[in-house]
Amino acid sequence: MLTKTDPRSDAVHETSRPRAIVIGSGFGGLAAAVRLSGKGYQVTVVEKLDGPGGRAYTYNKDGFVFDAGPTLITAPHIFEEVWQAGGGRLEDDVTLKPCDPFYKIRFDDGDVFTCTGDHDQMRAEVARVAPGDVAGFDRYLDMSKEIYDVAFDKLAGQPFHSLTFTLANMTDLIKLGGYWSVYQKVSQYFKSPKLRIAFSFHPLFIGGNPFSTTSFYCLIAHLERTFGVHYAIGGTGALIQGLVSLLERNGGRLLCNSPVETILTDGDRVRGVALESGETLAADLVVSNVDPATTYGKFLGKRKRKRWTDRKIAGADYSMSLFVWYFGTNRTYDDVGHHSIVLGPRYKGLLDDIFVRQKVADDFSLYLHRPTAHDNTLAPEGCDTFYVLSPVPNLASGTDWDSFAEPYRQEIQKRLEETVLPGLSDHIVSSHYLTPQDFLERYGSYQGAAFGMQPKLFQSAWFRPHNRSEEVEGLYMVGAGTHPGAGVPSVLMSAKVVADLIPDATQTLPAPKTAAV
Ligand SMILES: Cc1cc2nc3c(=O)[nH]c(=O)nc-3n(C[C@H](O)[C@H](O)[C@H](O)COP(=O)(O)OP(=O)(O)OC[C@H]3O[C@@H](n4cnc5c(N)ncnc54)[C@H](O)[C@@H]3O)c2cc1C
Repeated sequence: MLTKTDPRSDAVHETSRPRAIVIGSGFGGLAAAVRLSGKGYQVTVVEKLDGPGGRAYTYNKDGFVFDAGPTLITAPHIFEEVWQAGGGRLEDDVTLKPCDPFYKIRFDDGDVFTCTGDHDQMRAEVARVAPGDVAGFDRYLDMSKEIYDVAFDKLAGQPFHSLTFTLANMTDLIKLGGYWSVYQKVSQYFKSPKLRIAFSFHPLFIGGNPFSTTSFYCLIAHLERTFGVHYAIGGTGALIQGLVSLLERNGGRLLCNSPVETILTDGDRVRGVALESGETLAADLVVSNVDPATTYGKFLGKRKRKRWTDRKIAGADYSMSLFVWYFGTNRTYDDVGHHSIVLGPRYKGLLDDIFVRQKVADDFSLYLHRPTAHDNTLAPEGCDTFYVLSPVPNLASGTDWDSFAEPYRQEIQKRLEETVLPGLSDHIVSSHYLTPQDFLERYGSYQGAAFGMQPKLFQSAWFRPHNRSEEVEGLYMVGAGTHPGAGVPSVLMSAKVVADLIPDATQTLPAPKTAAV
């Protein structure tokens, strides 16, 4: 199902237009590739793995279809914009459906809080938990919209490589209270400990600790309520496949099983990439979708770097990692919704273990994905497809996942069996998992962090690796590691920022020195 173009087809690839190489086929890389193809570039995406998607890779195993990563699709209009920029229409390639309720949060005492897009239902749900917090909920949504209007609508799609631009917008950012953490901000509106959790956990979806992530991310409440939470028919992989098809229709190509070894330069300018196979590909510009720590620390080799030195890379705060267990059952669990959060007994204590003490805790807070709640094509008849993810420290914890993973998986299985999936052990017919070590080895993520650098105030915007490289001319950065950050809407925005920085292919570009490659 996934496109695996043979690298040998290089010989027949058209060479008359300016050439762009995108390293990595995550959502950010593919969106940048589509946008550049729409600007007239001849685009080649080189991907290390055997299929596209990166974090959004699709596993087809034992008759089950497992989306590896993103499942909650918000802001579908940003996908529509990518398709338009590539000369296509999203609805011709992918069907997105709204998901309502958005998700259910099961507290450790068994109480379930249902998050929906219906304002009255949400008010009633807040009132059920804490009647005194309803007015705070209304004010919280107003505040969330204010942040959204500035931080997302106005600034997320702008390049932040100029300090002057950053300073000019600093007043707006300070007025929004970006120096508060998400949890501190939420606590200004809600008194109930349960509601403080229900409205503050979202940074975990992008690798941040709610107790230290900048409160800009309170905008997610407005984003979800305005545009809804969606899923793609056929799974998130259908969006990846749709982007690949659009790219190919525009004359672009995807080369899988083609890990990049180095970015080739001529003086201070890129001139292409060298693959681990020894093959070289020439280009007028290169966009890297790979973690900036790897792009700068590995792909630029021993080249002297101005900003992103090994020391600066090592000194940043990286997101947590994830243990993700993908499993299929030979029965269905019809009372389990598409998205569930199964909380454990501790909130701050668990987050401190993950982010501060960097130790794997004995208790869990889990996200459970059951796409077959809406799409039975993803499992054999009468079966369910699941994944469950547990946030864990990144590899700085020193955990030996080779020996730790299977016992950890069994504990998660036990926890699910005790809470939402009774009898699970007797019904598992497919099983595999990803550990922090896999995030390092598969995706080249520094410290095995699942989401790159943490979304802290001083690791955002100008402080994050810039979309136009500070190190080499003609090199651009797209994806979770650059501005605006992790999460599908953000990485799609980063592709827009990159494409806006790059002139149309019809405008003059320095001639590539192909002879040297
Ligand atoms: C389990 C999980 C669940 C998530 N859930 C959600 C969600 O519900 N909603 C949401 O919005 N976000 C979610 N996220 C976050 C979101 O998935 C990511 O932020 C986003 O997909 C990252 O995309 P990216 O473009 O930065 O690149 P990535 O997906 O990281 O892609 C980078 C690509 O580069 C490739 N690569 C690495 N090294 C090389 C090399 N040497 N040569 C060539 N290619 C290379 C990798 O193989 C990969 O394909 C989730 C993430 C995870 C891990």
